Amino acid sequence: MNYTTPINRLIDEFSKLPGIGKKTAQRLAFHVINMNANDVESLSKAIIDAKKDIVYCGICCNISDSNPCSMCSNKNRDSSLICVVEDPRDVLAMERSREFKGQYHVLHGVISPMDGIGPDMIKIKELIKRLSNQDVKEIIMATNPTIEGEATAMYIARLLKPMGIKVTRIAHGLPVGGDLEYADEVTISKALEGRREI
Ligand SMILES: [Zn+2]
Repeated sequence: MNYTTPINRLIDEFSKLPGIGKKTAQRLAFHVINMNANDVESLSKAIIDAKKDIVYCGICCNISDSNPCSMCSNKNRDSSLICVVEDPRDVLAMERSREFKGQYHVLHGVISPMDGIGPDMIKIKELIKRLSNQDVKEIIMATNPTIEGEATAMYIARLLKPMGIKVTRIAHGLPVGGDLEYADEVTISKALEGRREI
C-alpha cells in the first residue's frame, strides 16, 4: 500500500475491530481524516473515557459505571433470584423482555475446551462466592443454547446442587445455536416462563 504512515496506522487499528475487514477499515480511516478536528477529538475521547470509566461490578461482574452496579443496588429487584448469562449484552436482551425482576450474574464467556477456556477462566468462582453472602432461592441458567452454553449450564448446575439451590434452565423457544442477544422480547419472555429445573 502507498498510503502515508499515519493513515496506515489508522487502517491497522480499525482492522483489529471485530467484523471490520481491510476494505471497511480503509473506508473508516478515510472518513476520519475527512472529519473536522472537533469531531475526531470527541470520538477519540469517547473511546478513551469508555475504557477508563467502565468498572466491573463486584457482585454480578457486569460492566458498569459504578460498583456495585445500579441493578445490584436496586432494592426493588429480587436478590433471591439470579439469572446467569454469558455476556453483558445478554443482560440488555433479558431486560428488554421486562419479564425478569431478579438479579444477574455475568460469566464473561462459556466453558469451551476446544478454545482452551476452562471453568476457572469465566466468572464461576465469583458466582459461588456470591452465593455464600446472598440468600438465593433460584439460579436461572440463561447461557446461549449452543453446545458450550449447554455444557456450561450443566457444569454450574452440578456445582450448585449440593448447596441446595434450585437451578433452572430457560426453555428453548430460543433457536438452538442461536444467540440470546438477537432474540426478540416475546421469545425471551416465553423462554423464561418455560424454564425447567436441571
Ligand atoms: Zn452488579
